[in-house]
Amino acid sequence: MGLDEITPETLLRMDLEENVVEGELPRHIEFPIHAEIFRARPDITCVVHTHPIYSIAFAATGQPLHAISHEGAQFTPSDIPRFTRTSDLITTRELGEEIASTIGESLACYLVNHGIVVAGNTIDKAIVSAINLERASHIQLLASASGQFFSWTLDEEIMGKREKIFGEGMIRNVWTYYCRRIGPL
Ligand SMILES: [Zn+2]
Repeated sequence: MGLDEITPETLLRMDLEENVVEGELPRHIEFPIHAEIFRARPDITCVVHTHPIYSIAFAATGQPLHAISHEGAQFTPSDIPRFTRTSDLITTRELGEEIASTIGESLACYLVNHGIVVAGNTIDKAIVSAINLERASHIQLLASASGQFFSWTLDEEIMGKREKIFGEGMIRNVWTYYCRRIGPL
């Protein structure tokens, strides 16, 4: 199913051993990304994996991500980890474990030539952060494509910005905004 087709009725509840506990549809083939991050990090309650165009294009350039905009300040410093062992689908526990190890304690990682993974301790944090990562990647691609010098926020300023802009309350505000945009399901 496309992401825009998902409703509460189409969700599956699963255990970490690939068994569908509740729901009718077949499970997604890249389930091990989610399962192995959940197994490795008990603090994480939501793992987003998707294939967004700007993030994929940006990660393929090999440039480090910079805080050109507020969104970038959520992820750097340091640079976002990158999984490069394969660009193929993640269908085994072994590959899922490698992604869990790549993301480590970070909020997100790029799967180079494939997509992104974002791990949050709330659903709203994971979703809003995934959207922010796509925006940060898009903005840096635009700046790079200008062919001109571009600047970014210095590391010492970022921590203060991060607290103001990406604190729990602000993330929730953005999340509820996106929920209003979608409307009732
Ligand atoms: Zn994928």
